[in-house]
This record gives sequence, structure tokens and C-alpha cells, in this order.
Amino acid sequence: MYLGVIADDFTGGTDIAGFLVQNGLSVTQYIGVPDASLNARETDAAVVSLKSRSCPKEEAVDASLAALRWLREQGCEQIFFKYCSTFDSTAKGNIGPVTDALLDALGGEITVMAPALPVNGRTVYLGYLFVNGVPLNESGMRHHPVTPMLDANLMRLTEQQSRGKAANIPVAVVDAGPEAIRENLQTLRENGYRYAVPDALTEEHLVALGEAVSGLPLVTGGSGLGMGVARRIRRQHGLDGRSGTNAGKPPGGRCVVLAGSASVMTNAQVARYSAIAQAKKIDVRRCLTDADGYAAEVAAWIGSLAPAPTAPLVYATTGPDELVAIQKTLGAEASGLAVERFFAALAARLLDAGVDHFIVAGGETSGSVVKALGIKAFHIGPQIAPGVPWVRALDRPVSLALKSGNFGNEDFFSTAQDFFK
Ligand code: ADP
Repeated sequence: MYLGVIADDFTGGTDIAGFLVQNGLSVTQYIGVPDASLNARETDAAVVSLKSRSCPKEEAVDASLAALRWLREQGCEQIFFKYCSTFDSTAKGNIGPVTDALLDALGGEITVMAPALPVNGRTVYLGYLFVNGVPLNESGMRHHPVTPMLDANLMRLTEQQSRGKAANIPVAVVDAGPEAIRENLQTLRENGYRYAVPDALTEEHLVALGEAVSGLPLVTGGSGLGMGVARRIRRQHGLDGRSGTNAGKPPGGRCVVLAGSASVMTNAQVARYSAIAQAKKIDVRRCLTDADGYAAEVAAWIGSLAPAPTAPLVYATTGPDELVAIQKTLGAEASGLAVERFFAALAARLLDAGVDHFIVAGGETSGSVVKALGIKAFHIGPQIAPGVPWVRALDRPVSLALKSGNFGNEDFFSTAQDFFK
């Protein structure tokens, strides 16, 4: 195994796994640290996804070190700590403390902090992080409920939450290519810097960075650096880049669509898909009073449907006005959790009834469905949309398409099914 990735959340793990596969590596993703007894399948890279983005920093460090131990047992050549391209963290962490702990454990002296993902509008210039052309602290991230980002300077953000000094690698050096970047890293290391923040405005910059970091035991950053690292590994080891997605392909079978996101894009996807498939909107009140019984009823409804070319849809998705009204009367947290519980119970029942393909909209919703299905690891398959691959469980014969609310275009639910029609 060439690369071991430690991702600080679940959809972030799927996101980088998708980029690695698209750039020619075969990848398995694990939910949480695998049991010591579980040996990684024969893949080029393994992604261990944690829930360590905003938990107490000691927990984040412990979980990351446990993931590191397992990945090293699988023989990984390089470790990649993956966090969000908007550097989601606070002055206490968890990006800095986890990076320090991993660097110490690996005996590394310097690493890169490279969140840039130009394809999604995240760029780094003079060490400042931009989101769609505005500094991070002027983007929507300023108001994030858990990790509000009030500074865009990645050197300051890094130093605040870690134990060493950070310096920028300017764009002129990155433009000059891998050798120039390597020399700059060497100089920084000799001058006592522990973190290098490279500028990155384009895909080419990330490809050059992927080459330049080949000698570092640890790299950190977003999916953009993942792309660069994957291309370098593919070149170094002469991988043909075609077998990457085979193990993750959906074979086709009984499929359902579950939508638990209330995002703008999921609303559009549900509206478009309801016109061509059997669809049921759920009653949130019933999720609160009797999630299990209600799930049994909806599962029976799905079981009663005649076979159709399009999979049935069950959705909680609703527009902002109705959502606000529901949250006001039933409580935002209570209603959200009840809807998640309902989808978890429904997914478990559908699995028992022989459904083996699940298309799920919503990050939290996906997390609870995967848990309810008892899935701990999967092969990453072909991309349906950027950041959303089909995946195939290792533990049981089930395929999943797990999508964050705003991902994919309006035809996403149909496009996903085109892969096995
Ligand atoms: P996204 O990826 O769009 O953030 P998530 O699944 O992560 O989607 O989060 C959506 C949250 O909203 C979940 O907790 C879900 O249960 C909740 N939710 C969805 N629809 C409704 C609804 N109609 N009423 C109340 N809560 C809802």
C-alpha cells in the first residue's frame, strides 16, 4: 500500500477517496479505525475516516494516532492527514495538534499545510486562503456554527494551534516546479520551520506539489493535494490507472433513494426526480413519535410497489419556509435527529427486505444510514459527480451513493442509476 489517509470527517474521507480513484489509485475507505485484525485489501491507498474535526483535541489526537498505527501496519509509504479545504478548526485545533502528533510519531521534521482545491474555488496566495475569490474570513465560513474562520492567513492559523513555526512557499517557487519546491522545503527545514504553506492557484501547482513532497513521511491538506500525490504515486509505480474503480462498481439490483437533506440542490433534485419516480414525502411528526413503526410502514409501501425503471424515493427534503415552521414547532435538533433516526430504521428494514443499492442525500443522513446498515469499510467506485463516487461495502453485498446536500446536479438521482442500467 502506497498511501494512508487519515480524514477528519466522513464525507471528507469520501471526498479525497474519490479524487484518489479519479487519479488512478484503487482505494478502500474505512469508517473509524479498523480492528487490528482487519488487514487492508489489496489496494493502492486506504482512507480511514474519523469524526475528529471538532471533538476535544485529546480525542482527535488519540484517534488519529490509532489510525496511524493501523495504516503503518499495512505498510503505507506516506501518510496524508486530510482536512477541509476551508481549514475548519479553532485556535485550539484540531488541525495543529493532530499534525504535531503525527509528525512526532513519524519522526518527521517538516510537513506541508495545503488545503487548496482550485476546482472548488479554494486557492492559496501568499499563504492566505481564498474561497471563490474572497479571503476565507470574508466567506460564509466566517459564520460557521462550530468552526468560524476569522482569519485567512494559514501561517497564523497554523502557529496558533501547533508547536512550531510556519512559512509560506510563494507561487513563483511553486511555478518553478518540484525541484524548486523541494529546495525551498529543505531551506525552511534547516531554518527551523515545521510547517510549509505552499501557494496553489491551479491544478498544475498541486501536481507539482504532489511530486515535491515525495520524500516527506507526512503531508497534510485537502483533496487537491490528494490529486497531486495520487498522480505522482501512479507515475512512480507505473500503475495503469484503469483498475482503480472496478472493485467499487455498483452491479445493479434493488435500489432506493433516501433524501434527508434540506439543501437547495437536494430540493431541486427531489423536485426533478419526483416527476419520474414513485415518491413519498415523510411526516416529521411521525418520526418524532414513532420512528420505528413509521419506518416499517414506509418499508412496506416500498415493498408493495411494482418493479419500475426508476427507484422509489423517500424524502424529508423541504423548502426553507416549511423547514423553519417545523423547527419552530417541533424543535430544530429534535426534529433533525428524529428524521435521521427514521432513515436509519428504514434503511435497516430495506436491507433485510433485499434492497442492495442505496442513494442517500445529506451528510448526516448518510452517516446514520451507513451505521444502520452495519458497514465499516468500502471500495471506492466510479464518480457520479465531483466528490460523490459509488462505493461498494466490504462487509456485505451493498452499493451506496452518499452525497452531501449541495453536491451533484439536478439529475443526480437518475444519473446515479445510469451506472447499472
Ligand atoms: P446536508 O448534507 O444538506 O447538511 P444532512 O443530512 O447533513 O444534510 O443534514 C440535514 C439535517 O436536516 C438532518 O439532521 C436531517 O434530519 C434534518 N432534516 C431534513 N429534513 C428535515 C425536515 N423536513 N424537518 C426537520 N429536519 C429535517
